[in-house]
Amino acid sequence: MMKCEVIKDLLPLYIDNVCSRESAELVEEHLAACGSCRSEWENMRSELRVPQNTVDMNRRESHLLEAMSAYWSRSKLKSFLKGGVLASLSLGIVISAYFGLTEWNIMRVPADIIEVKDTSQMKDGRIAFHMRLTDGYDLNQISYDMDENGNFYMIPYRPIIKKKPITTFGLFNMYQTKDPFINGVYQNKYGADAKITALYLGTRDENILIWEEGMKLPPASDTVEAELKR
Ligand SMILES: [Zn+2]
Repeated sequence: MMKCEVIKDLLPLYIDNVCSRESAELVEEHLAACGSCRSEWENMRSELRVPQNTVDMNRRESHLLEAMSAYWSRSKLKSFLKGGVLASLSLGIVISAYFGLTEWNIMRVPADIIEVKDTSQMKDGRIAFHMRLTDGYDLNQISYDMDENGNFYMIPYRPIIKKKPITTFGLFNMYQTKDPFINGVYQNKYGADAKITALYLGTRDENILIWEEGMKLPPASDTVEAELKR
């Protein structure tokens, strides 16, 4: 019988499906006979799955987690994740904090300072709405989030250090549209038949509903049509 230590060294490769057919057979043979290695195998499998689950929880962190887990050797990742989900959550938080403060320097805008007005249907099918941030500070970026149930989120971001706008209009105070670009972003992720059925400003947890399927919208005014002409 093979030594357990050898099998334990092979397990990460076996789980990742990257060892030879011959080694895989040795591992399987040993697992069938050795309870201690089998429970080690079960543990490893569930631990190595953790970064995958994180994908659904937080897309931004998950990219980093994937990059980092590819970078780290499996054994280092494994010891890092020894605490299971809790450890991987704090890893995510550490990564967000690091990038939040240094690299991205960007924070979500709370929904309670977002004002949405004048939602309307344009002649070309686009849905227009006016967004204004009521606290008087500028806005730097609108990111997207979405799920497979047709929900699409436009998430306003700004740096940790807010700035006053230099003009009276800008991203913080202007018309936005649900348009072919946004539909394309959605279909790029969920397939050509996928359809956005609800549009929100904000995150999944904290948002303002702008539009959902079946909602009756007034036709866009001439001013709006003119402003958003292309
Ligand atoms: Zn064993």
